[in-house]
Amino acid sequence: MRRHKTTKPMRRCIACRESKPQDELIRFVLNGQDPVADISGRAEGRGFYLCRNAECSATAVMRKAFNRVCKRNLDEKEISRLIEQVLDSYQGGMDVKES
Ligand SMILES: [Zn+2]
Repeated sequence: MRRHKTTKPMRRCIACRESKPQDELIRFVLNGQDPVADISGRAEGRGFYLCRNAECSATAVMRKAFNRVCKRNLDEKEISRLIEQVLDSYQGGMDVKES
């Protein structure tokens, strides 16, 4: 039997710390010190990742995971709004694959 090697890039979620395929995560990049959502997944800059689910979003806000990555104090509301925007845009356009 022939085996197909699938080497999907794995990235670690900043909230649950689990490694997952990149397409199950939201990518953010640092624009200066401000995190911005990278929907295309191709923006330049230092990236970090968060699971595409409400649980990890909440955890990230609660544990101030963004502050750690961005090395500055972000307002909780600011982080929530940023995540909400991304989740909305994913639900709008892309099909989220269940695996
Ligand atoms: Zn996660």
